[in-house]
This record gives sequence, structure tokens and C-alpha cells, in this order.
Amino acid sequence: MYKYHTYKDAKRILVTGGAGFIGSHLCERLVLDGHDVVCLDNFFTGTKKNISHLLDRSNFELLTHDITQPVLLEVDWIFNLACPASPIHYQYNPVKTTKVNVLGALHMLGLAKRVRARVLQASTSEVYGDPEVHPQKEEYWGNVNPIGRRSCYDEGKRLAETLFFDYMRQNKVDIKVIRIFNTYGPRMRPDDGRVISNFIMQAVRGESITVYGDGSQTRSFCYIDDLVEGMIRMMDYETGEHARERDYTRPYLSGFPGPLNLGNPHEVPVVELAERIVRMIGSGSKIIFEQLPDDDPKRRCPDISKARQHLDWQPKVPLEEGLRKTIDYFVTAGK
Ligand code: NAD
Ligand code: UDP
Repeated sequence: MYKYHTYKDAKRILVTGGAGFIGSHLCERLVLDGHDVVCLDNFFTGTKKNISHLLDRSNFELLTHDITQPVLLEVDWIFNLACPASPIHYQYNPVKTTKVNVLGALHMLGLAKRVRARVLQASTSEVYGDPEVHPQKEEYWGNVNPIGRRSCYDEGKRLAETLFFDYMRQNKVDIKVIRIFNTYGPRMRPDDGRVISNFIMQAVRGESITVYGDGSQTRSFCYIDDLVEGMIRMMDYETGEHARERDYTRPYLSGFPGPLNLGNPHEVPVVELAERIVRMIGSGSKIIFEQLPDDDPKRRCPDISKARQHLDWQPKVPLEEGLRKTIDYFVTAGK
């Protein structure tokens, strides 16, 4: 059974990509819980507005920096999130996307090694590619095209995972790897092309809802608050004091290193999502069908047995409630 081990002790925590969608929610939660937070970002897809409410807090610092360059800091924990996440943004400069994933991971692992910090990698369900196994368990190695338009992200994240596990074995770095499935909520960018932000903006503006393909492809959507809770539990999960669970062959590890799926196992066809959003907004928008992008995964749904077992974690926010909060945010932000 999961319990917080050291989370209540204030720590100095680096969040790379901290001004982005997920990063800003994570920074907010860590600051409110009393930690000293360093938010590192180059504002490629993140914005100062996302973290402006934290800027006058004495336990929050903002560092404008590009993760492809090394950085030297004294920290206890590192959450490595820096990387554009939406397909239009990560495909804008694919070579840079690979650099962010690979050099970013190397720099954060090097830093963790030097200052003996614990480091968590925000990996992704994209490491499973277009999966042939359903739902996806952590043991599944994936079905990824190495030369397609999504490869800079998928393979970049896969190589980052390799580096994390090699630093664990070779340099005894205390790592955690989570595989995040589609997450949504306030502070997603209205123009980031991801399905929930696109559909909400189109419905709010009364434009056609662009379903790609026939809309039978599925995704499983996790509300941001649930994800942040899971991320913190994973980072704080320690098994050392439980002799039964302790891994004596790897005493430098604080606990289960992962990889661990974090996502909502409620699977929805994209066309059903479109209909639901149109209904909730009461919009007159029509659904139209456009070409499916290359390598678009047909099904995606996490098996979260490991998160349940190790962290006693499962998502709590139903899709309807999360969508309502997200729609409210987009409507208010647009005014
Ligand atoms: P986001 O684009 O909103 O946030 C990414 C942040 O990283 C932005 O603030 C951006 O400016 C910053 N960044 C990009 N390149 C950088 C660089 N070179 N140096 C420093 N900062 C840089 O995306 P998000 O949805 O918040 O995703 C955060 C992380 O979670 C990413 O690593 C992403 O791969 C992962 N993830 C997200 C999802 C999801 O559904 N949102 C799913 C799986 C994995
Ligand atoms: N999608 C869609 N219309 C849009 C945007 C996305 O039908 O306007 C589809 C997309 O083809 C994919 C799913 O929605 O099947 C999720 O897309 P997103 O870009 O949000 O994330 P990812 O494909 O990385 O899971």
C-alpha cells in the first residue's frame, strides 16, 4: 500500500518544462505544498502566463534556459518534462525534438549523478507506437516506426528511457520513469492541435469539428489533477523501509523505478469525444472527417495495474467533469 514517505519534508525541486501545461500544474502543487521549486523553461510551447501566479512566491524561481545546454544546480528532486508534446509542435523542428529528448535526458541524468538527486522522466504512451497489445502493459516493447513523422518524439522518448535505465545500472542514479497517456485540462494551448483543445475551440467558435480518419481510433483521457497526484506519488515512492520489497541488488534506488503507466483507462473513440464536446457546449458545429495523419495510433489505453499496486493510484475525475472544467477555462481565457 502506498504512503507518502518524505514528501512532507521541504525539498528543492527542479521542474524542466515547468511553464508548460503539465509542468505549470506540477509547479503549482509543489509550491503550495511548501517545496522550493525551480522552474526551467525556454518558452517554446510554455508561457510565462501559466506560472505568473507563482512568480511572487518566495519558494518559486524561474530559470529561462534551453535544456539542450547543460545546467548546474543544487537540487534534491528533478522532474524532467521539457519537450513539446503536441504533434504540430514536436514536428515543427523534428531534429530539435530529438535533441531535447536525448540531450535533455543526458543533462538531467548528469546533474542527478553529480548532486545525487532523484530524477523522474516524463515518458509517454507514444513509446508503444501503434500498439498490437491492448490495453498497453509496461512489459510491452511497442510497435514504433523509426523513420516516420512521429519518430523524433517516439524514438526520442524511447532513447531517453534507455539513458535513464543505463544511468541507473552504470552510475547508480535513483531514477523514476513514468509513461504518461493523453492528459488534458486548463492551460492546454488553444492552438496546440491536440484533440481536446481543438474540438473545444472549434465548438466554441461554431466551426466544423475536424475528426481525422473515421474517428474510430481511441484514446484514454486523464484529467491533469489526477496525473499530477500520480507523478508526485511515483517520485515519492520509497520501498527501503519495507524489507520485503527492498531490492538489495540495487540499494541506491529509493523504490520501484518504473516504467509506470499513468493515465485513465476509460477508452473513448475520437468521434464520440467530438459528439460529447459539441453536446456539452451546446454548439451548432458539424462534425467533418479529414485525412488521418501518418502513423496515427488506432487504439490507446493504459493498463494501470502497476500504478494501483505500487502507488494505490487511479484517476478520480470522470471525463464529463474534467471536460466541464476545461471548457470553462477555454471560454474564460478567450474572453
Ligand atoms: P507542453 O508543450 O505544454 O510543455 C512542454 C514544456 O517544455 C513547455 O513549457 C516548453 O516551453 C518546454 N520546452 C520545450 N523545449 C524546451 C527546451 N529545449 N528547453 C527547455 N524547455 C523546453 O507539453 P505538456 O503537455 O505539458 O507535456 C509535458 C511533458 O509531458 C512532455 O515531456 C511530454 O512529452 C510529456 N507527455 C505529455 C502528455 C500529454 O498528454 N500532455 C502525454 C505524454 C507525455
Ligand atoms: N484528432 C482529430 N482531430 C483533431 C485533432 C486530433 O481527430 O482536430 C485525433 C488524432 O488523429 C488522434 C487523436 O485525435 O487520433 C488524438 O490526437 P492528439 O494530437 O491529441 O494526441 P496523440 O495522437 O498524440 O494521442
